[in-house]
Amino acid sequence: MSFETLGLSADLVGMVAEEGYTEPTPVQAAAIPHVLAGRDVLAAAQTGTGKTAAFVLPILDRLRKHANTSFSPARHPVRCLILVPTRELAMQVDESVTTYGRTVPLRPAVVFGGIPIEPQTKELRAGVELLVATPGRLLDHVGQKTVNLGQVEILVLDEADRMLDMGFLPDIQKIIALLPPRRQNLMFSATFSDDIRRLSGTILRDPEVVEVARRNTTVEAIRQLVYPVDRDRKEALLAHLIVREAWGQVLVFTRTKIGATRLATYLDRRGIDAVAIHSDRSQPERTRALEGFKTGTIRVLVATDVAARGLDIEDLPRVVNFELPWQAQDYIHRIGRTGRAGAAGDAVSLVSIDEADLLRGVQRLLKQAIPWKVEDGFVPDRNAEPQPLRGPVEGRPARGHHYPHRTADRPRSGSGSRG
Ligand code: AMP
Repeated sequence: MSFETLGLSADLVGMVAEEGYTEPTPVQAAAIPHVLAGRDVLAAAQTGTGKTAAFVLPILDRLRKHANTSFSPARHPVRCLILVPTRELAMQVDESVTTYGRTVPLRPAVVFGGIPIEPQTKELRAGVELLVATPGRLLDHVGQKTVNLGQVEILVLDEADRMLDMGFLPDIQKIIALLPPRRQNLMFSATFSDDIRRLSGTILRDPEVVEVARRNTTVEAIRQLVYPVDRDRKEALLAHLIVREAWGQVLVFTRTKIGATRLATYLDRRGIDAVAIHSDRSQPERTRALEGFKTGTIRVLVATDVAARGLDIEDLPRVVNFELPWQAQDYIHRIGRTGRAGAAGDAVSLVSIDEADLLRGVQRLLKQAIPWKVEDGFVPDRNAEPQPLRGPVEGRPARGHHYPHRTADRPRSGSGSRG
């Protein structure tokens, strides 16, 4: 399979060759012809599958008829709206639109919250054809009347499942009400939950459904290991493993923002360069942290699931679950960040007795048991009592939020348990 056979214009085929893409990824091969044909598409694909090019390339070809050199903003209305859940993803998609669109004279722009609105306002007023946006900030612009969505021909919902998880449904509905009813709709989601199917039922018209596996990565290709450890020794064990095994680039997941900050501070104080990345950080801070991590000045990036979503970090050698996620599915998202492009990857989980139920949930989903290793000097206390696990959980609103089951015959201790 080659890009030529998908029906893309010669300049785009040349552009992808310059980017070093030798053949389309599965989601590209499956989705591009449908998008070019003007069909609605529902695609199961997550970051790392090449999904961005799967919609950006055919969209560029469909909209190139609108390219013009007029200075009048009215000649550059928004034709394509790409909604994304997070600032990081917004920046990445914008970068892709700019890169892939370099041969097509349509104007791209990106708007997201957490930074001043004025420069975005100025850019929007000048006219843009391809707009990447997070829902909240887009509605701010709509409120200020800096953007008109009345000529949108193509709507993309990227990481739709995460947008629902983050509570963006009302915003999405408000935005859709501003769009022309006749348009092409593309929806990308890592999972096809019931909520996603319901949403797609209300937005998409007779969609082509595309389901493909992650690019080159299957869970089987990732070496997984669980270290059982007492909850109050996790930090020490992690620092010990990083130093002893000379781990380079490590992405570490925590369940909470506070936990991420606390862990990064702990590692940093022990001479291990670490930064926490989460939604309370300013945009420049997050960008700097990600750059530092990619270039190697930061050895450990500590992230919550929401913050990590959309981060495009390729060929990561190792992912650590400092805490297991509430949702077993998130374990797969997390470890899928390693072992990309066929490279070997390691996924290490530090699991305390409180997390036994979460681990069982993961193993049930994987349909496999994960090997264990007890580290010398970190043998867990056999008599330790499980504690109820507590939030707050970034990006996990109350709906669908399950605290792990706790056996009733043990005394309850601590606060915040919802049982
Ligand atoms: P995405 O899933 O859109 O976040 O893309 C993940 C990464 O794959 C990005 O860094 C792209 O540059 C890269 N990529 C996209 N399409 C291809 C392709 N056909 N061949 C090789 N790399 C690709």
